[in-house]
Amino acid sequence: TFVDVEAVLDGLNRVQREAVTSDAEVLQILAPPGSGKTRTLTSRVAWMLANGMNPSNIIVATFTNKASKEMKERISKMIGGGLEHRLIIGTFHSIAVRYLRKYGHLIGLPGGFGIADTGDSSTIISRIIKKNKYATIDGNDAAGIKSRISNLKSKMQSVDEYIASQKKSSHSEEFSKIYAQYEKELKNSNLLDFDDLLLRCLDLLRAHPLCVSNIEAVLIDEFQDTNLVQFDLMCLFASRRDKITIVGDPDQSIYGFRAAEIGNLNTMQEVYPHTIVINLEENYRSSAAILNCSLGVIEQDKARPQKGITPTHEVGISPVLRQLPSPDAEARWIAQEVLRLRAVTGNLFNFDDIAVLVRSGGLAREIETQMTQKRIPYRLLAGIKFFERAEVKPVLDYLRVILDPNNNEALLRILNTPRRGLGDKAFKELSDMAGKKETSIWNIVQKAARGDIKMGGISKPGFIGLGKFVKIIRDTQDALKSEETGRPEMVGQIIQALLEKIDYKIYVGDKLQGEFEDRWQHVEEFVAQAVDFCRNVVAGIDEVDLPDTEAEGNPLEESASVAALGKFLATAALASVKEGPEAVGNGDGSGLLTISTIHNAKGLEWPIVFIPGCYNGSIPHSRSDDHDEERRLLYVAMTRAQALLYLSYPSELWDRKSGEMQDSNLSSFLAEGNLKPLMVSRGPNITLEGILSFSKIMSRECPTHEMVQATINAAGLRILEDWVESDDPTRNYEGYSQDPYEEGYGSQPQYGAKRG
Ligand code: ATP
Ligand code: MG
Repeated sequence: TFVDVEAVLDGLNRVQREAVTSDAEVLQILAPPGSGKTRTLTSRVAWMLANGMNPSNIIVATFTNKASKEMKERISKMIGGGLEHRLIIGTFHSIAVRYLRKYGHLIGLPGGFGIADTGDSSTIISRIIKKNKYATIDGNDAAGIKSRISNLKSKMQSVDEYIASQKKSSHSEEFSKIYAQYEKELKNSNLLDFDDLLLRCLDLLRAHPLCVSNIEAVLIDEFQDTNLVQFDLMCLFASRRDKITIVGDPDQSIYGFRAAEIGNLNTMQEVYPHTIVINLEENYRSSAAILNCSLGVIEQDKARPQKGITPTHEVGISPVLRQLPSPDAEARWIAQEVLRLRAVTGNLFNFDDIAVLVRSGGLAREIETQMTQKRIPYRLLAGIKFFERAEVKPVLDYLRVILDPNNNEALLRILNTPRRGLGDKAFKELSDMAGKKETSIWNIVQKAARGDIKMGGISKPGFIGLGKFVKIIRDTQDALKSEETGRPEMVGQIIQALLEKIDYKIYVGDKLQGEFEDRWQHVEEFVAQAVDFCRNVVAGIDEVDLPDTEAEGNPLEESASVAALGKFLATAALASVKEGPEAVGNGDGSGLLTISTIHNAKGLEWPIVFIPGCYNGSIPHSRSDDHDEERRLLYVAMTRAQALLYLSYPSELWDRKSGEMQDSNLSSFLAEGNLKPLMVSRGPNITLEGILSFSKIMSRECPTHEMVQATINAAGLRILEDWVESDDPTRNYEGYSQDPYEEGYGSQPQYGAKRG
């Protein structure tokens, strides 16, 4: 196929081109945010393809599933031809799943293993704690213990190694017991947790390097956040050719709390002494004002080596640092400001040009409420994941049980959902019996339903319920496997039939609080996603050729639809963000504003970024003991912004412990003396010059002075002149004697709204 090489290199600077076309075997591209690392990496993949490399022989690891989707889209634009669908591209976890599905049997992994997501893991741990009446350890709840276990696994410390390394104390003993029991329960349920996926893949590739014998190149984005296991995986992936490209930025390492290993950059240079390092120094993302302000934050880290970063854009509009009376007022101010910005610029931006980035998911709630009230459509990259929703999760669990009834976790959750007359006693009896007989709960359930074993804890309706349940599971299994209906195209109908058999609509309407319409829409969206996914599998999109090894094929007998559905369930378990529809408001084609945690915003960019909650206790967070990582987190957040950056903090906070309002202080990262002059406290004053520089940064068509003035006149607004920066508190916003965001402010000025 003819490929236009110039299309791959188009628009790159000299150093970026050098990196893309480099012959180096091992290449590290280290560079600050917005310098085009991801773009360079993407172009390098396209370059390899353009030079005839087989896409099935290239592994690309990205930080999120969304990032790999975007990368594929860009590659497709550059070279076309559908090659991008055959790349082995995804997060480390999803790549590991592909290898384990195909070759797991080689290391004795039972076929059709399930994936325990973070929620599953926490439930298992809570149950262990409850059952053994363990006191909570060091005040850690199940999620806390899970993350401790996960950290150990990420450092490849097994239970036995952990125990050996500990001085005996009652705390460490209880923790070891929980760890050991947790591993056992996962095994009994045929589940792998996220860390296991990587660890087992490591086992596989160590024992059977032939599985990756085809791999010619390995490329990794956001390398600064890889952990030790991922590093070893990288080496194994690349073992045949040692051709590796990584891109990263030590200043953006923000996953130390999850055992990311910043030392991996140096280790790599030790393991591969011929590593070539390329630095990119120009920032293409942000205005110079935003870049300087962000640098002012990161440069407070005195241990950090000095580096060159040059802005390519002009100064632009100064970042705004604003104090508001409360978190609630902060949220109101943001919503107002979004509407005002659109009004004064003649809708130069859409809602999808705007992001609100928060330190923790909890802060997102206030923002959501305000967006809903002001009818600003938004999507959430924080908070509850789509697949974790109360109305979606049970459907997912039914499918998991149908594919693997030995998945005790999923089974326990759906046995009485919807209600089948089973009480706590029944549950206890079923799991005790399974434990005693060392068999799965499903086996006991079947026997109980047949009346083969006596169960004192189950009522008569309970027995009938169990019988129905067993029949529904078996019937659906049969449908998936039968010749007539066992085709991936039929998966949608099979799921619909299942929902009817369990009267799911009634369950969603009666048992779950909240709007039925919204909830049912999520269920339908879930089914649609499953159907779409299975269709794509049929169409062969994203079907990667992995090499056949000596022990060919997975011995597990699977129909095509079982296989397709299995892949879908794995994808759902790995989905890192809520990916369902979350549009609230009018949705008139102006896109959705993004509300995200800072962690989820990594690698992304928006013309306008708001960072509320910049106070000591939130950032740096009171529970974090790594001050430098907290600073990097703020740096990551600030460097997402292209043209306008808003930082804010409340002057008072509700303190949960004392139940009283308490003073809150501006984040010490922003309070540094030399930073404040770089920011303005009100505004920004959107001048024509501001709008002009703005359009340039975003490479958008620039509105003329007349256009802007006309919009303002049409809306009857005087904002352009009225919004002035002033220390005089009586000179206020649009002639109001009171700041519109003060507590108690009643009628809202109609900045963005159309006036009839
Ligand atoms: P981060 O560290 O935040 O992940 P990054 O280094 O990966 O940032 P990219 O996301 O690749 O940076 O690029 C940032 C922006 O700069 C993108 O919009 C990209 O298209 C643009 N860009 C990159 N290189 C160039 C260039 N040579 N000319 C113009 N724009 C560029
Ligand atoms: Mg990037």
